[in-house]
Amino acid sequence: MTKLADFRPKRRAAVLAACESLKTGAIAVSHLANVRYLCGFTGSNGVLLLTGRGATFYTDPRYDIQSAQECDCAVKVVTGPVWEAVAKDVRRKRLTSLALESEHLSHAQWTALAKEFGKAVKLAEAKGVVEGLRAVKSPDEVARIRKAVLLGSAAYEKALALVSEGMTEQQVAAEIDHAMRLLGAEGPAFETIVAAGKRSALPHARPTGAKIRRNQLLLVDMGACLDGYMSDMTRVAYVGRLGGRLSAQARRVYDAVLEAQLAGIAAVKPGARCKDVDAAARKSLKQRGLDRFFTHSLGHGLGLEIHETPRLGGKVESELKPGMVVTIEPGVYLPEFGGVRIEDTVLVTESGVEVLTPTSKEFAVIA
Ligand code: ZN
Ligand code: ZN
Repeated sequence: MTKLADFRPKRRAAVLAACESLKTGAIAVSHLANVRYLCGFTGSNGVLLLTGRGATFYTDPRYDIQSAQECDCAVKVVTGPVWEAVAKDVRRKRLTSLALESEHLSHAQWTALAKEFGKAVKLAEAKGVVEGLRAVKSPDEVARIRKAVLLGSAAYEKALALVSEGMTEQQVAAEIDHAMRLLGAEGPAFETIVAAGKRSALPHARPTGAKIRRNQLLLVDMGACLDGYMSDMTRVAYVGRLGGRLSAQARRVYDAVLEAQLAGIAAVKPGARCKDVDAAARKSLKQRGLDRFFTHSLGHGLGLEIHETPRLGGKVESELKPGMVVTIEPGVYLPEFGGVRIEDTVLVTESGVEVLTPTSKEFAVIA
């Protein structure tokens, strides 16, 4: 299979081509996920300068060895602030314009750079330039995401088998994270969410010391990071025995959310607008009178970061393309009862959609 590094010169050329519409022939890339995508560096400090004459990566002495191993472009290890070295070279190369990732710079950084360059270098705001490229994954990237997805699902199965009444949300989260590490993950893709009972109605609940009790919903939202790439999945189980009033209500909500999730997945295909995929799931919940409890967008792209372009939201006009990897995650949150969210990671294929997440979506019961 073609390796990620083989794609990088093409990616850098595409970024420079996009800079032409900003009327600059150079860009300083500082968002670390974008830096990694374009030159391979995985550390925590650095700036990649792309000009028509080539690519140079600037970092500090902590990354002397690592940057030489990882980067497929020229590397400059500098003492002192990295941006200062970049600015010095921009002037030395007599560049008259430069694009900066304004969404990833602080106001203070932008102001300092503008002052540094004065009238000699015209600055342009590059918004979403690299992110737009990253949205469509190469086959190698898809293979990596697939592995992260499988690892996440395997860890979930392992951890869920250990869950019982009386355990705390934190203990369950620890079991999940432990299983992911043992299976080879670099770590969780984000802070694992475990929420029991009414707390499952909080879409971004942090695990607490609250104990899991009978006749409760248990929501787990988790993902693995493997080889830099993320996975994302949400499952909800019912703790207790089926048959009571609560379990019947849980089942009704669960079935409605699952139906909406399947409607969302069915709407995924090349050319579909993000807002239409969101609407397909929302329409399904509306038929059950539950759409007002679905309070977030349907999903998001993922890859080197857990939230990437595109966002599957009600106002997003952009179209899905083959190679995009997105989540489909409708939820219904009832404050006095709890929440149900079902989330898979899916791939947009040439002809439609492939669900990458293998974990069962049957209504699971922890007795
Ligand atoms: Zn999630
Ligand atoms: Zn998600």
